[in-house]
Amino acid sequence: MTTPGEEMHALVERLYPLCRSITGDGVRATLDVVGEYVPLRVHEVPTGTRVLDWTVPQEWNIRDAYVADATGRRVVDFAASSLHVLGYSVPVAATMPLSELRGHLHTLPDQPDLVPYRTSYYTPEWGFCLSQNTLDALPDGPYEVRIDSTLADGHLTYAEHVVPGRVADEVIVSSHVCHPALANDNLAGIAVAVFLARALAEGTPHYTYRFVFAPGTIGAITWLARNAERIERVKHGLVLACAGDRGRLTYKRSRRGDAEIDRVLRHVLETSGRPHGIVDFAPYGYDERQYCSPGFDLGVGSLSRTPYGGYPEYHTSADDPDFVSPEAMEDTLAVCREAFAVLDRNRRYVNLSPYGEPQLGRRGLYDSLGGRSDAKEAQLAMLWVLSLSDGGPSLLDVAERSGLPFDTVATAAEALRDAGLIKA
Ligand code: ZN
Repeated sequence: MTTPGEEMHALVERLYPLCRSITGDGVRATLDVVGEYVPLRVHEVPTGTRVLDWTVPQEWNIRDAYVADATGRRVVDFAASSLHVLGYSVPVAATMPLSELRGHLHTLPDQPDLVPYRTSYYTPEWGFCLSQNTLDALPDGPYEVRIDSTLADGHLTYAEHVVPGRVADEVIVSSHVCHPALANDNLAGIAVAVFLARALAEGTPHYTYRFVFAPGTIGAITWLARNAERIERVKHGLVLACAGDRGRLTYKRSRRGDAEIDRVLRHVLETSGRPHGIVDFAPYGYDERQYCSPGFDLGVGSLSRTPYGGYPEYHTSADDPDFVSPEAMEDTLAVCREAFAVLDRNRRYVNLSPYGEPQLGRRGLYDSLGGRSDAKEAQLAMLWVLSLSDGGPSLLDVAERSGLPFDTVATAAEALRDAGLIKA
């Protein structure tokens, strides 16, 4: 039997060879594959469209690229890995000695066997990325240099998948889809988002969950620009990035720092006993930067395993499918599911019988606990909910102050609500 982790890993492996960028057919091909798992609404936004302070750039597509020696042997070949080309390279067809080519070559001298990931989105440039070891072995040339790419008016592509909830208020889950052959950053994030969407759709969640698959920065900015009227309804959000390496989980708080999503993630991570880190917001990293910009100031945090830039494989050819594990992705998925289960049930209640303790036995609330092994705890949870429900504290506050599991507190509250003793 295949585990969800293995299925997510298979999706990562399928997406890995596609040459993604901030625009172009690689993004479309990626969304086509994702669309086989969850239905997507794909949006195409024309080049030149003003989006907040930015403009949708020309669309980039690439068919082939190589550096070949005098015998025609390709010493650097896009066909072997999309990382070999500087992202958004303008076309080139020339012959030149190594001395001239060098200015267009990118390597990692400190990690000489790895190929770096480099882009030049907003400055017209061409280049190749290769390992330092490959470069060191190259004779003086001449070399045939060819990049068969086009930069032309076209579109920026992004997609959404919605899991309808009981209310129109929304939770957004955002993953960037612009990196080429890099598995953890961010194919693992895409895979976890896809399986999270499928898991949420098994029931009817309280909130409406909107999954956004968009290129980094410009894609999130485009989404925000085109969803001005929706922003009011976005109550919470989570950016999923670097979701599959074997390191511990890291939650990065929203800019607000005390948003409900921040408290929920902290609660879930702390009570789960998992090793984890919680870090404050900083205006670098992924698209939480855009969602948390002061004009929007959304309660959007970011969940990663090893964070942005925090591992030696980051933005190199070593971030390959072997670098991400089925178990790690499954663990990230489990935390997302637990967090959203808490978020979905977290409410503020008002005690409708606040003068003295209401008589629980008369309302059958003790009997309902009779057969439960945790009857004592469940009864305690009812008393805590009644005691703290003055419209101020949420159920999460009750769970934290009482030290009781959130699930026990929420179940107690739901029983009290059904008995007419509290109301949301
Ligand atoms: Zn990245």
